[in-house]
Amino acid sequence: MIRTVVCEKDGCSGNEFYINGQDDKLKLRCKDCESIYYYDTNNYDFKMLSSCSSCNNNVFKVFKDLDSNNLYAKCTKCGNPPEKVFVDSDGIQVTYEAKLLHDIKDLMHQVDQRVCNLEIKVEGLERGQELLEESLAYINKYMCE
Ligand SMILES: [Zn+2]
Ligand SMILES: [Zn+2]
Repeated sequence: MIRTVVCEKDGCSGNEFYINGQDDKLKLRCKDCESIYYYDTNNYDFKMLSSCSSCNNNVFKVFKDLDSNNLYAKCTKCGNPPEKVFVDSDGIQVTYEAKLLHDIKDLMHQVDQRVCNLEIKVEGLERGQELLEESLAYINKYMCE
């Protein structure tokens, strides 16, 4: 179930936040009353930045998936998620796009490898058929003699 994150301060029911990724936490600041909330983002392989990935807005509505405990943020202006950076195993930050591109390249390489293996198999089959034809020709010749 997905729930909208709403400010819990008495008298405030703001549901628009400024977000800020800090180490393993995501800091939310209520746009209306400035209350601050921290959420664990330990299990993410990326870090959310403070501004929208598509426009420059920095106010977000935040949703929480109660099953997985994951947080999602949507720009209040255009509905896009915040800019993300991927943190690799060495702790180096790359843009999420660069990471995706890298993953796709990896995938293409695997596909390439598979096509290559297939080609080798087809070649093997062709050679097998040649051999078969040769044998048949030989048998024919033998039977005619
Ligand atoms: Zn508030
Ligand atoms: Zn936006």
